[in-house]
Amino acid sequence: MPRALPPSDQRLTVLGWWFRPDAPSELPLPQRLVGTWDERERAATLAYLRAGQSLVRYPDASFCRFDCGVGALGDADLTDGRYVWPDGLAHYVEQHGVRLPEDFIARAVAADGVVAPFRLPKPRFGLYDHGPWLAWARARGACPPLEGFAAPDDAIAERIAADLGDAEYARILLCNGGSREVVLELADGSLELRHVRAGGRPPQRFANWLAWPTTAAAGSTSTASASPRAGLPKPPDRPGRGLTMAEFFQKRRPPDGDGSNSNSGSDGSQRN
Ligand SMILES: [Zn+2]
Repeated sequence: MPRALPPSDQRLTVLGWWFRPDAPSELPLPQRLVGTWDERERAATLAYLRAGQSLVRYPDASFCRFDCGVGALGDADLTDGRYVWPDGLAHYVEQHGVRLPEDFIARAVAADGVVAPFRLPKPRFGLYDHGPWLAWARARGACPPLEGFAAPDDAIAERIAADLGDAEYARILLCNGGSREVVLELADGSLELRHVRAGGRPPQRFANWLAWPTTAAAGSTSTASASPRAGLPKPPDRPGRGLTMAEFFQKRRPPDGDGSNSNSGSDGSQRN
């Protein structure tokens, strides 16, 4: 049963959640948010970021996505009662010139870098709201357009591998049941977007995630990112996304020879 979200004025707006190559998602690549800063604004923003109160600690430290060699970036989330950010976020602003949403900068500047007293909320379900962060970053072209893609579970990965035949790759990263596309990591670390069956568009290769197109041009939904909805938070249940890969395999007719029905429940693919 879905749990109710806290009222919106009690949720914390997320800042500084980044894409990670080992678990690709639509979170933004900070390299695409680098910009120029007014130094007075940056100083106030840095002071403000460092003045947040610790809300949650994690067992593992974060790492810099610029691979700058700084080492562990921090292991806590900080908050001012309205926003929440990883304690490593100041590093991105200070060392790499990463920009942040204007409303947050304005708040930090108005407060002269000082976090006003507030009551620390209790960590609970639905406390974090990452919708505005994604919408802001997406509007700046910082998010890989991976709508509809998900990491395959073992059973699906096996079926994709069977469909891919003798294609050479190191790992199946993502699959999209609606568009029948998969994202493969190749042996040299580069990426390949391809259809699971012959007859689709030819495979496309990208040196890394930074080279991945910023719009949906790589996928089959070529106009999705051009719409004005970029400024809106994504609806919670992502309606209209199409099939999951499991549904795709369930609906697909077997190639031949092994019956045209009744097998779909026995092959390990599951609906949830
Ligand atoms: Zn760094």
